[in-house]
Amino acid sequence: MKNVKILLDLQEIMSRSWIVEREKQRVPLEVADLKSLFEEREAKFLATQQEFEQLQKEKRGKEREIEEERDKVERAKAKLMSIKTNKEYYAMLKEIEATKRSNTTREDELLSILSRYEEVEKRLAEFSGEVKELGARYRERMVDIEARMAKFDRDISQLQAKKKEVAMGLDAGLARRFEMIFDRRDGIAIVPARNQSCTGCHMNISPQLFNLLQRDDRIYSCPNCNRIIYFEGDAAEQASG
Ligand SMILES: [Zn+2]
Repeated sequence: MKNVKILLDLQEIMSRSWIVEREKQRVPLEVADLKSLFEEREAKFLATQQEFEQLQKEKRGKEREIEEERDKVERAKAKLMSIKTNKEYYAMLKEIEATKRSNTTREDELLSILSRYEEVEKRLAEFSGEVKELGARYRERMVDIEARMAKFDRDISQLQAKKKEVAMGLDAGLARRFEMIFDRRDGIAIVPARNQSCTGCHMNISPQLFNLLQRDDRIYSCPNCNRIIYFEGDAAEQASG
């Protein structure tokens, strides 16, 4: 029963290949949670960074305004010396006072910007540390996973080559039939018959069929599950011989 031996080899190769394929699909899921956590924190970090940059701009703008108004006051004070009339003098003094008052308001505004600035700066530092740490962990895992994925690909192509080689010993029709059963029956396409029953589905097979299995080297299928069945004794002899 040469075919049985080939089919058993084929089943083993295809099962290994199947396991590798499934691992290849599963492994990236190992980092899915870490990836989404990293992306979520990174988005938060970037939004905070934007907020911080905006506050930085507001802070600089306000500081510049205050500086300009102070210069204005200084210039006005210097001008006071050269003023001749009282009327002009008091008008200028009034203007200086008004500028000082509006600068007080600006300074209050600057203080409120500064307190937000400090708060956002602190948050930014926290997020930055978190994102760095998560990013490093994520990249480390990805390096590991990429190596494993590459190994899976190598294994799969090796198994495919081996499968092709082994399947060459089979009739094309039988090879096709075998693959179809393999897919439909969760990777178990050929099973031994024991005690007059199919070990794939555990249904009894007729004594006539069981007799044929022991004598004949044609391929028989279980009438219930359609798996290819064989008489184990022969296969064992085949394997040892
Ligand atoms: Zn069966």
